[in-house]
Amino acid sequence: MGDAAPEVTWLDADTVQVRQPKLSHWEAPFLFLLFGRERALLIDTGATTDESVFPLRATVEGLIAEWLRRNPVVFVRPYPLVVAHSHAHRDHIAGDALLRDRPGTTVVGTSPAEVIGFFGFRSWPDDTVAFDLGRRVVDVIGGPGHEPSAVVFFDRRTGILFTGDTVLPARLYVRDLPQYRATIERLIRFRDDPTAPVRELRGAHVEMSSAPGVDYPAGTVEQPDEAPLPLRPGILDRVLAALGELRGEPGERVVRKRFVVVFEG
Ligand SMILES: [Zn+2]
Repeated sequence: MGDAAPEVTWLDADTVQVRQPKLSHWEAPFLFLLFGRERALLIDTGATTDESVFPLRATVEGLIAEWLRRNPVVFVRPYPLVVAHSHAHRDHIAGDALLRDRPGTTVVGTSPAEVIGFFGFRSWPDDTVAFDLGRRVVDVIGGPGHEPSAVVFFDRRTGILFTGDTVLPARLYVRDLPQYRATIERLIRFRDDPTAPVRELRGAHVEMSSAPGVDYPAGTVEQPDEAPLPLRPGILDRVLAALGELRGEPGERVVRKRFVVVFEG
């Protein structure tokens, strides 16, 4: 059985990975909280508005309090929190309602226009925008294709590319193929820029088992043998190559060891 409590992992002293419990929702999305000197960034809010099912607000409050205890030299009180999203699908934004009234909190809207406006994109989705958390810069990269307002966050501190539902050990649902392909090519160019060394990718779900090419069907709650979340940067080349095999039939799948491309058309 999955656990009922959120799975909290400190990736380093200023970076937290939170997984919504499988028991609360089969999608069990991963959320990420990044702390800077001037503000924190929460990427995604999970699949439920019900705090009793997944205590998002209490979890975030607890993590911020814990970080502030260790980092008393923060200038602004209340310590600001920016809530942004990998993309606007329901299982990544449902918890927004639980955080909207939190003091010092800005919840970024989920339409493309709101995302573009908040981060200050000038030639969406081709440019990359720097977002400063205070002595910690996160690059925000346009990422439509799975969903029109999708972005990818690159944390220069940890070298992690937070790829949402765009690249992950799961089914990669391609809604808009030209945009999705352009996003993968954009991520490859970003990865190949030596000034932004990408160490690994972390997406928002795990749906693959540890057996190559075998995914758990949608709706699976128990995944006793699931693949690890992190992917190596080289996975981007494999995703691009897999796209080349699509013939353009809705529902078709291209199966690889660590992911399955699903063309939604
Ligand atoms: Zn999605």
